Amino acid sequence: MSENHFDLIVIGAGPGGYVAAIRAAQLGMKVACVDATRGKGTGKLALGGTCLNVGCIPSKALLDSSRQFHNLTHMFAAHGISADNPKIDVATMIARKDKIVSQFNGGVAQLFKANKVTAIHGHATLHKDRKVTVKDFDGKQTAYTATNVILASGSVPIELPFAKFDGKHVVDNVGALDFDAVPRRLGVIGAGVIGLELGSVWKRLGAEVTILEALPDFLAAADADIAKIALREFKKQGLDIQLGAKVTAVEVRKKEVHVRYTDAKGEQAIVVDKLLVSVGRRAYTEGLLAEDCGVRLTERGMIEVDEHCHTGVDGVWAIGDCVRGPMLAHKASEEGIAVAERIAGLPGHVDFNTIPWVIYTEPEIAWVGRTEKQCKDEGIPCRAGTFPFAAIGRAVAMNETAGMVKIVAHAETDRILGMHLCGPNVSELVHEGVLAMEFRGSAEDLARICHAHPTLSEAVHEAALAVDKRAIHKAN
Ligand code: FAD
Ligand code: AMP
Repeated sequence: MSENHFDLIVIGAGPGGYVAAIRAAQLGMKVACVDATRGKGTGKLALGGTCLNVGCIPSKALLDSSRQFHNLTHMFAAHGISADNPKIDVATMIARKDKIVSQFNGGVAQLFKANKVTAIHGHATLHKDRKVTVKDFDGKQTAYTATNVILASGSVPIELPFAKFDGKHVVDNVGALDFDAVPRRLGVIGAGVIGLELGSVWKRLGAEVTILEALPDFLAAADADIAKIALREFKKQGLDIQLGAKVTAVEVRKKEVHVRYTDAKGEQAIVVDKLLVSVGRRAYTEGLLAEDCGVRLTERGMIEVDEHCHTGVDGVWAIGDCVRGPMLAHKASEEGIAVAERIAGLPGHVDFNTIPWVIYTEPEIAWVGRTEKQCKDEGIPCRAGTFPFAAIGRAVAMNETAGMVKIVAHAETDRILGMHLCGPNVSELVHEGVLAMEFRGSAEDLARICHAHPTLSEAVHEAALAVDKRAIHKAN
């Protein structure tokens, strides 16, 4: 076989693509992974995709820095700790974030090396019969062939036609992760995960933040009780969240951004210094598919796949943000592993019912499975148990008492159908629900498990007891 032939070529080195490449190499395949991302400042191939370069990891780095600053300026006094004149050095904070990103870029490169995955830099196009051409960073074009190809090209931000990204005043996630100073006034269009997380970062550092959301309900995908608590807490923090506010026009004038929107009261306007447009993301397939490759796109521009991530073209698969399903890094990775295993003849599988969702705000929001409303809409009889963090000793000791845990269980079988959380460290606690659901557990199962005291996980235990109206530390 020619050295340009691989058992598997993966296009895209995000959490879908790079994980698929490593798993396939573990299973004995000769694998190449192509990516077009250049590192900030280096211009060299930066593996890790959106998640590592401009998504999950840098946003969490800034959320952590801003949380430390917020605690110093707002929370430490209750513990008797004070500091004179605390300041934030944005350049240092951004440099720390960039260092974390480049550390992990190198980490993925090391993993490729250890697993003998060939990393190829450049933009790839899939042609008929699994021929892949790559135009590299020097403009040179090379042709490769593969027995299997996985498309893992990810997603890009949706641009509003009247609010074009200029990288300076009207920005996407990339711009909002790289401001060189705290904007005095930040506008955010869209109260989704990205808008809330990045809005929180700059609010904690001192910006006046206004979030405009077209829908009348806050976090419509979350459990209604959880969304209500979260909205109350965000408002307490000073985030100005306007619901039912549909942005209609944006204009940059003299370094200011004029934003017009309509709400129940009629035409409204705000003026901000920076505007983050976070109205969702779309599959990225530019230049990916040659006309003869046979892969089809859906009406919404996603790569069409069946439940096994197969495109219908022999040996061609697609995973992650460029296909249907939630745009989450761990969903992309699970699909990557499942497809690599299917190619190897193993029974790879992703359970879409147990994919956890997390919003890394303060308090954090997390959930897995169905909400009570979804159960009702689907005619599934259910009952729910809740428990507030305000009654949890550890949460009180931490001075982080906002939020609660809610467990939704089948009214007849007691099987856990969903877990919904808002509060401290719930990004970790939600996995107790994921595990219980994956093992087809009941609320009774969780209620009978001994949880350490004093821990935040006692809220999960008590919520499970509350499903049967027998929580100990609250009136049922
Ligand atoms: P991507 O990570 O988008 O990777 C695709 C890669 O393919 C890119 O590097 C791209 O350059 C490359 N590529 C595309 N086309 C070609 C081509 N033709 N040739 C060569 N290379 C190509 N998810 C979470 O689960 N948790 C979070 O906390 C979280 N936070 C986020 C925060 C922000 C600000 C953003 C923007 C996203 C966040 N996400 C989060 C979503 C997460 O980043 C995505 O779900 C995830 O990156 C999808 O992985 P992927 O492998 O499908 O695609
Ligand atoms: P997500 O898909 O989680 O990133 O969230 C994006 C949010 O942006 C959704 O809640 C949309 O309702 C919201 N949105 C989309 N277009 C507009 C608009 N023109 N004005 C205000 N909000 C919008």
